[in-house]
Amino acid sequence: EKVVGNNNEGFLQKLPPFDYSPPPYTGPSAADILAKRKAYLSPSLFHFYNKPLNIVDGKMQYLFDDSGRRYLDAFGGIATVCCGHCHPDVIKSITNQINRIQHTTVVYLNHAIADFAEALASKMPGNLKVVFFTNSGTEANELAMMIARLYTGCNDIISLRNAYHGNAAGTMGATAQSNWKFNVVQTGVHHALNPDPYRGVFGSDGEKYAKDVQDLIDFGTSGHVAGFISEAIQGVGGIIELAPNYLPAVYASIKKAGGLCIADEVQSGFGRTGSHFWGFETQGVVPDIVTMAKGIGNGIPLGAVVTTPEVAEVLTRRSYFNTFGGNPVCTAAGLAVLNVIEKEKLQSNAFVVGSHLKERLTALKDKYEIIGDVRGRGMMLGVELVSDRQLKTPAKAETLRVMEQMKELGVLIGKGGFHGNVFRITPPLCFTKDDADYLVDAMDYTLSKM
Ligand code: PLP
Repeated sequence: EKVVGNNNEGFLQKLPPFDYSPPPYTGPSAADILAKRKAYLSPSLFHFYNKPLNIVDGKMQYLFDDSGRRYLDAFGGIATVCCGHCHPDVIKSITNQINRIQHTTVVYLNHAIADFAEALASKMPGNLKVVFFTNSGTEANELAMMIARLYTGCNDIISLRNAYHGNAAGTMGATAQSNWKFNVVQTGVHHALNPDPYRGVFGSDGEKYAKDVQDLIDFGTSGHVAGFISEAIQGVGGIIELAPNYLPAVYASIKKAGGLCIADEVQSGFGRTGSHFWGFETQGVVPDIVTMAKGIGNGIPLGAVVTTPEVAEVLTRRSYFNTFGGNPVCTAAGLAVLNVIEKEKLQSNAFVVGSHLKERLTALKDKYEIIGDVRGRGMMLGVELVSDRQLKTPAKAETLRVMEQMKELGVLIGKGGFHGNVFRITPPLCFTKDDADYLVDAMDYTLSKM
């Protein structure tokens, strides 16, 4: 095995042992792929590193580049690969299904779709048991917002500043970061103060932020709203866990205004928070509609909207369907994911290893002034870099430098936040304590050299 980081004297240089070597890669070089990408792929697509990695293999919490070099994947395909890359049970389930039938449509019956819907419904609280499958998180949120509008007969939706809910017209309206918005028509969404304990105006006082939602209802709408959509922990926004007691107060205001509460679980679902299976459970609320994607298929394109039979009834007003949603190969992946999470106790691993990782990252904050905040829970953690702790000045250039250097040490992390100065640590939920220690040691070493 190739040793990573061998240009870094003094660092332990060794990733935790892992018993797998990918077959030799014989495909085109990174330079060739980059040239094709420049010629034929949308110029909007970006990569994290100066010298983009050509990733050719994945196994559990590791990725391998074209030279066979192994990297600890602490970004997890953007919080998507929850069971680990190429998990054998997921592959087996997909392969079995694809060998029987690759695609059906909703006009026929197929057990793979019904079985997964039943299994998913069993993971939901309350009367949330009707599933509509989509192809992505964006599509799930588009549908959820439309359902809320149809059900209530109102147009106004409230979302949070700094939220990310997708990139189609409706969801871009709910997304509230200028970095992610085009200047095209996105009507009917009001953006409430973000209950951000680190940068928000009311610190950790969730009830004060909730009053802003009531104000928006009172002064920005007719007093009736279609609904409210939010993540429990903002992902793209920089791993911001909503201030405590926020959601119960907001849900009460929304219900009083006749609206539906939508929980966007695209990143925070499927046990990632460690303490709970769904992010909204961390605030003790039960939404009317739950949307999900990413972790649901361990990287296979799949999303879902889950709601109550009463609310789902609105969709019978027209023929409403999509071509690929509930594709049996994707739902076979989904069923395997639920089984693996249960069998391998991945949620409790996310809790135990995630708590250890957060503890160690928090200790780094005592050592390095540049770390302004460490936050999140389970395997959804954020580390915010600032050049001045008092002023909380975002340290964007340093964030990129640290990421680049950690890559050299064999650790891949994400970044996000409005200012691009937050590390997003969202590994596969099979991440081990040794992996967590290696990640922190690599960050420690990197920061010590800055
Ligand atoms: N909602 C949240 C919370 C997300 O993080 C994302 C994507 O990052 C989306 C929705 C959109 O999902 P997709 O990219 O699958 O359309």
